Amino acid sequence: MQTYRGSCHCGTVVFEIEAEIDHVSVCDCSICCKKGILHFPVQDEHFTLTEGRESLSLYQFGTHEASHWFCNCCGIHTFGRPRMDPSRYTVNVRCLDDFDDIVEGALEKSFNGKQHPLDQ
Ligand SMILES: [Zn+2]
Repeated sequence: MQTYRGSCHCGTVVFEIEAEIDHVSVCDCSICCKKGILHFPVQDEHFTLTEGRESLSLYQFGTHEASHWFCNCCGIHTFGRPRMDPSRYTVNVRCLDDFDDIVEGALEKSFNGKQHPLDQ
């Protein structure tokens, strides 16, 4: 496992994950599509919010099962909890330091969020 550091654009929200990022996921649901984020899932024990808890805002919609956390200063979505498994986090890989190196070696998987499995 490697430690990756991530942050929002203004640097107020900072987090770390322990992971081996071998893939990133692209979801085509209504919100992921507009944000253009790349996902990587991590369990709670591999996620640490190191700075900026007080600056996080929560956005929820639809079934309110998923949590979309963003910095209330710069607006960047840093991580969330997905509807498929709200017990874990999914971080925005684009917020990680060394983003270019990470995606270069990662496989891209797609998730059909438009026709979400929980809606079928
Ligand atoms: Zn920020």
